[in-house]
Amino acid sequence: MGVDPNVAIIGAGPAGLMAAEVLLEKGIAVNIFEAKPTIGRKLLMAGKSGLNITHTENFKLFLSRFSSQLNTLENSIRSFTPTMLQQWTSNLGIETFEGSSKRVFPLEMKASPLLRKWHARLSRQSLQTHVNHKWLGWKDNGKLLFSCPTGIYEHTSTATILALGGMTWPRLGSDGNWLNLFKKNGIAVREFFPTNCGFHFDWSNVFRDRFAGTPIKSCSVTVDEKTIFGDLVITDYGVEGTPIYAHSESLQDQIRANGHGIISLDLHPNINLERLIKRLSFKASKISLSNYLRKNGKVNAVKASLLREFLSEEDFRDPKILGRKIKSLVLKTQRSQPIERAISSGGGVKFSEVDDFLMLKSYPGIFIAGEMLDWNAPTGGYLINGCLALGRQAGLGAIKWTRDHFN
Ligand SMILES: Cc1cc2nc3c(=O)[nH]c(=O)nc-3n(C[C@H](O)[C@H](O)[C@H](O)COP(=O)(O)OP(=O)(O)OC[C@H]3O[C@@H](n4cnc5c(N)ncnc54)[C@H](O)[C@@H]3O)c2cc1C
Repeated sequence: MGVDPNVAIIGAGPAGLMAAEVLLEKGIAVNIFEAKPTIGRKLLMAGKSGLNITHTENFKLFLSRFSSQLNTLENSIRSFTPTMLQQWTSNLGIETFEGSSKRVFPLEMKASPLLRKWHARLSRQSLQTHVNHKWLGWKDNGKLLFSCPTGIYEHTSTATILALGGMTWPRLGSDGNWLNLFKKNGIAVREFFPTNCGFHFDWSNVFRDRFAGTPIKSCSVTVDEKTIFGDLVITDYGVEGTPIYAHSESLQDQIRANGHGIISLDLHPNINLERLIKRLSFKASKISLSNYLRKNGKVNAVKASLLREFLSEEDFRDPKILGRKIKSLVLKTQRSQPIERAISSGGGVKFSEVDDFLMLKSYPGIFIAGEMLDWNAPTGGYLINGCLALGRQAGLGAIKWTRDHFN
């Protein structure tokens, strides 16, 4: 058709950069636009807590962690599996290790070396990076419109990949502002909501002052009869940590339906109730309450103080009541942390709007990648693996589109 193919990618997070990589490998010119003065800010933030990039559990189990019934998501992950991801990081010169729970981290436990090496490699392949370019939408003639330090910039591309992220931590760049623009253009979206987030609980001042930041190790959290093991962290506002993040969607469903969500906390999951009550029934006469709880109930200081938040003096003297509370402490929450503080967001562009290569069915030549799409997964490396896989899939889609229309 006499037009040199060039693809515009908007959003320089993991999804956008991975889309750029597959296009550049095929020799297609790529311009990547980023609203912030630097790229990959959320990835760098994820690196502050170690950068868990994937997970090595059985692959079937791995796939089951993602929101169900999403063939496009599953197919994308099948073509960028955890093994491929580790191979990819290794090719970048970033070695990884597997933690105790099969979570995979870079040896350096941060994102900056990976991002630096990755962007340098893409730049050597002629990636054109435009930071401080905030995408505003399309002009009537289809041109992309950006606000940049010199004013308004218009850009023409033969295909566009949008990888604008979700709506968490907006100061890092992904503010979800595009949601309204999409609605106006008739693209079906689900409103954003926080996922993988903490929940509020009303602690007493004494408990909050003494224990905010303290982990409750080796407990289990049950919501709607689903139980997740792990470590929780007491915070000044309530509770966070893997087992609570994993229940965040169910808890929010409960809050929406009933005005509150209920978790049942097992502070000693390795013993059954009957044995625990038996152990609690042997109490030496002169032993202090905290020593008794520690020795007979394996309840340490933070767990004991948590129990004190809910139990009366009398309850502590009754091994049956105490045992039941240790095995199932019921906590009520009225709200989650706001989306601005969540690790990920649910909602976004519905998968029914895109084809197998993540191209918008109603806007051919425009592809969607990463957290912009309406999917969800727990923490554990699933999010980044998912975003990279979706970025790759959108990149492959743009290659196919380019071949079909511009060769
Ligand atoms: C505190 C924290 C810890 C995390 N830890 C982990 C972890 O350990 N493991 C894990 O798997 N996941 C983790 N995540 C989640 C992970 O970082 C995200 O899922 C991932 O970064 C999403 O990738 P993305 O490319 O879709 O979007 P983003 O990384 O959000 O990138 C989108 C980019 O688009 C840009 N952009 C947005 N709007 C515009 C616009 N209008 N114009 C131009 N540019 C725009 C943004 O500035 C941004 O750079 C963590 C998240 C947080 C907040």
